[in-house]
Amino acid sequence: MTAAAPLQEELRELYRDLILDHARSPRHFGKLDDASNRAEGINPLCGDKLKVYLKIKDDGVISDASFEGSGCAISVASASLLTETVIGLTTDSALSYVDAVLAALAGQQKDPADVQLGKLAALQGVREFPSRVKCATLAWRALNAAIHDDKQPATTE
Ligand code: ZN
Repeated sequence: MTAAAPLQEELRELYRDLILDHARSPRHFGKLDDASNRAEGINPLCGDKLKVYLKIKDDGVISDASFEGSGCAISVASASLLTETVIGLTTDSALSYVDAVLAALAGQQKDPADVQLGKLAALQGVREFPSRVKCATLAWRALNAAIHDDKQPATTE
């Protein structure tokens, strides 16, 4: 019954490496000049402040996404993973991912059939550090606000 432990350790290391990689070299970082939707996310507890930009086509497909701002490694890695995930999705699917990621970070075993967390499962590692969970959710709250075209910043508080 000990065989599972090393694999879990290995996965944990892989996840940590993935988070660190995205924190050090964020994907799709910078302003999206022709964005159709944008929203800001603020996490006052940590001081993370990010803006998510989306280019949503008439058929509801997100053809491009980016983010900018400043935040801790977890918030930046989460935003970077987010942009990689949502490009090419419809806004409806992107919102399903928002639900799935927020549920996963809240420790709920909710796994909608149409959502494969894939790499995003790496974010679940932050559940070991409850004070960092809000850092990981921030970009997803901003994504939700951007899709709904909210003018108010999304906040974790
Ligand atoms: Zn943070």
